[in-house]
Amino acid sequence: MGRLEGKTALITGGARGQGEAEAEQFAAEGATVFISDVLDDVGEETAARLGHAVTYVHHDVTSEDDWKGAVGGILDQFGRLDVLVNNAGIFQLGGLADTSLDDWNRMIAINQTGVFLGLKTGGIPMRDHGSGSIINISSIAGMMGTATAHAYGATKWAVRGMTKSAAAEFAADGVRVNSVHPGIVETPMLDAFGDARPVVTKRIPMGRTAQPAEVGNVVLVLASDEASYCSGHEFVVDGAFTA
Ligand code: NAD
Repeated sequence: MGRLEGKTALITGGARGQGEAEAEQFAAEGATVFISDVLDDVGEETAARLGHAVTYVHHDVTSEDDWKGAVGGILDQFGRLDVLVNNAGIFQLGGLADTSLDDWNRMIAINQTGVFLGLKTGGIPMRDHGSGSIINISSIAGMMGTATAHAYGATKWAVRGMTKSAAAEFAADGVRVNSVHPGIVETPMLDAFGDARPVVTKRIPMGRTAQPAEVGNVVLVLASDEASYCSGHEFVVDGAFTA
């Protein structure tokens, strides 16, 4: 029996990268998986590649209507949502001088408001049902200061704090909420580093970047009932970067 047998999961930003890897891992463990994104063509291709257990839905995490549509569709079909991975995110380099107000607002809208809407739209039906697991994807930028990505770091610290508040709010109702903090992971997001990429990689004590499934392994445990007593905490997957 799979570790997520019978569970229904929604993974935001699941068209590619870590979300795609997690969808594959969840489906292999018996879950029915919905991946959502704004990259519709890529998302449809990913779902087709991963097989009948994975469905793509268009869903901009900054839109409350899109959240209601995505979660509402799952509730109509299955009666409950068991796992939500708030994974969608954007990254942009820039210290204070290089971050415009528009950059800041866009980062907050996707990386932070998107998680707020997920906790609210996904978490409340879980609470009413009496069970569920929410995994918020933060970053090592939510564990330490990040001189070169001010807005990104702000959102990832916020996600860490929001995770704890939601975990405390939902603890008595059977809903667990945890944050995962990846280090440097091989996904299209790394393109933002451009020429600086070798410099960043050199700082990783393990001497290599992570594969998406190495983060997915930790997300999978948190999604499953194996993590039944874990809530409100940070799970760092960074090759000792912050050690
Ligand atoms: P990625 O760029 O491959 O995937 C991010 C996905 O989010 C993309 O498919 C993108 O289209 C989607 N997305 C962006 N805006 C969206 C929106 N408004 N609504 C819905 N979807 C949207 O990068 P990834 O590495 O797979 O990123 C996944 C998560 O991991 C992000 O939250 C990211 O901040 C975090 N993270 C990544 C790294 C890394 O090194 N790659 C490190 C730490 C944390």
